[in-house]
Amino acid sequence: MSTCDHDCSSCSQNCASRSGGIEKEKLNEVSSVKKVVAVVSGKGGVGKSLVTSLLAVQAQREGKKTAILDADITGPSIPQAFGVHEKIMGSDIGFFPAQSKTGIDIVSLNLMLENENDPVVWRGSLIAGAVKQFWTDAVWKDEDIMFIDMPPGTGDVPLTVFQSLPVDGIIIVTSPQELVSMIVEKAVRMAGMMNIPVLAVVENMSYFRCPECGGVHYIYGESRLEEIAKQYGIDCTARIPIDGKFAAACDEGLIELVNDESLEDVVRKILD
Ligand code: ADP
Repeated sequence: MSTCDHDCSSCSQNCASRSGGIEKEKLNEVSSVKKVVAVVSGKGGVGKSLVTSLLAVQAQREGKKTAILDADITGPSIPQAFGVHEKIMGSDIGFFPAQSKTGIDIVSLNLMLENENDPVVWRGSLIAGAVKQFWTDAVWKDEDIMFIDMPPGTGDVPLTVFQSLPVDGIIIVTSPQELVSMIVEKAVRMAGMMNIPVLAVVENMSYFRCPECGGVHYIYGESRLEEIAKQYGIDCTARIPIDGKFAAACDEGLIELVNDESLEDVVRKILD
């Protein structure tokens, strides 16, 4: 832009200056997405897909038209958690997301593969290209909120996705063990470099509540969530317990039936 002074903090345009010289990808002309929130983690297996799913379920329950873009191409868990298996179909105007039982729109590479158990052995550039196409070529109809289940880590693929898609905010998912490492700091710094606010830190597998005596046990050590969040100036936190109901619901494709209040405040903040 001719008036650009390269001070992104005083301007909301998605121009190349904001994203390190890369223009944001445009949506399909029939699509509309009001808000985009990326869910990130330092490594796989900490519960990023579970948190993405729970956030989407809660947003849909709050009456918002909700979408999930599954960018975790090599470890896609979203279709499984929602029990969605029908193939995504294309048309002249683009391809249509699959719909969950409660009407959440979902796009995942797993719903395009001939055999959903096939591994995706692709180079990073191809993975990033596929994620961009999920954004540009899908028909995202009147979405109030879209959650992106990001690839884990702060490498090349997440970086390209952040630079190419207009992400409004980031949710960082960690486990108690990870909180003591540099993973949160790396994610916070990456968000800062992209000028994207960190909306909340979610500590998954935070504690275990004994069903017999009700006692709380810190299997991976006492939580340092509040201390770490304060250190990075993040004012919204949530803790999710270790609970077999999450794993069972994901395995059975019934995540939409899970009742859990852990993320209600985070969703309220996202929808603010
Ligand atoms: P990621 O997306 O970070 O790789 P997932 O969300 O796929 O991780 O979670 C990995 C596995 O751990 C899944 O089988 C999931 O059901 C299980 N899981 C995640 N969080 C919890 C939890 N709080 N309690 C019990 N099981 C969990």
